[in-house]
Amino acid sequence: MPDEQTVTQREGAPTAPSRTPSGTGLELKSLTKRFGDEVVAVDDINLHIAHGEYVVLLGPSGCGKTTTLRMIGGHEEPTSGDIVLDGQSLLGLTPDKRPTTTVFQHFALFPHRSVRENVEFGPKMHGISKAERREKAMTALDMVGLGAMSDRKPSALSGGQQQRVALARVLVMEPKALLLDEPLGDLDRLLRLRMRVELRALQRQLGLMFIHVTHDQEEALSVGDRIVVMHEGRIEQVADPFTISNLPENVRVASFMGDNNIFEGTVTSHEGGRVSIDGGDAQLRALAAESDARVGQQAVVSVRAAAVQVGEDARDANGPNQLLGQIEVVEYLGDLVKLHLAAAGRRLVAKVPGDRFPEFRGREGSSVQLSWKEEDVRLLRA
Ligand code: ATP
Repeated sequence: MPDEQTVTQREGAPTAPSRTPSGTGLELKSLTKRFGDEVVAVDDINLHIAHGEYVVLLGPSGCGKTTTLRMIGGHEEPTSGDIVLDGQSLLGLTPDKRPTTTVFQHFALFPHRSVRENVEFGPKMHGISKAERREKAMTALDMVGLGAMSDRKPSALSGGQQQRVALARVLVMEPKALLLDEPLGDLDRLLRLRMRVELRALQRQLGLMFIHVTHDQEEALSVGDRIVVMHEGRIEQVADPFTISNLPENVRVASFMGDNNIFEGTVTSHEGGRVSIDGGDAQLRALAAESDARVGQQAVVSVRAAAVQVGEDARDANGPNQLLGQIEVVEYLGDLVKLHLAAAGRRLVAKVPGDRFPEFRGREGSSVQLSWKEEDVRLLRA
């Protein structure tokens, strides 16, 4: 059905020339937002985002990601710090005077206006002539693949198409940066999965800076060039999706990203680039040449669920990095099987390829050998 095709699949979609603006990009400088005396929503954050980059602000509810986006868009004034785009401070400018536009989660379209009139509305408010705003609206609608539906009313469009109208409505303003506040939050799961591919493709096609707020880890990994993980108003880690997923810097990032097994213990030796940790019932050894861990220190490590080997013979039965676990739940997820386990008085999670499901089906309650390699044990900062 042509209406349901994605931007990447759509035949004849205009390949707009990359509009990547030149300039130094966006800088958040010691940006802070307090609400009253009690709440520090955003606490002295620094971040640089280049033009053409897709950056995701990710974190649990209340971590300050929406407030950060609202300050960039001019919907909230910072308590202190600065927001600089291409060398110019944006402070004091109202949203309509900023070279940014925001796509909100609830993208209310005017129901009684056509798709084209919805998109023309912004330029009309800026006093742009009828002929020019019509042309701009049609260009923006072509970018999102809706040129042929410009005369329809929003009610005659699917949810995904309405979302694309919302995108066209902001693209028509020719922003230097697009701010997306939980843009997929209102959509059902299948549409969300498709729209995130569309957003990614559109951003690539336009070459614009996209700043996208979400609390959904998978969505962040899927769309972002870089992910900014926030916690209690502060930035915990900024990195590409692979690094955030596989090399979390600290306990908060490792816990929030999920599917990491976290162990605490005392460092018992550090030699030959290996750190041994006594975690009580769990003995761990990490390959950590660069670590400054000292004997006697407390340490926290993580082991990715996908790095846990299940049911394989341990090379050294008394060695570190292995435990006997009991399967609590076998969760079949198609491409993979997630095993929820109890081992050494804690809950662990392991992911194995989906084709191993027959091996684990109905094995709740039985014991399995768990092990992992020392290069998969990651020492975390507290
Ligand atoms: P969510 O995903 O739930 O939207 P968030 O990470 O986007 O959360 P923010 O909305 O930025 O978080 O809120 C950060 C903190 O600031 C929270 O503690 C929130 O309660 C508080 N806060 C946000 N807006 C206001 C406001 N207008 N007045 C008082 N406190 C506020």
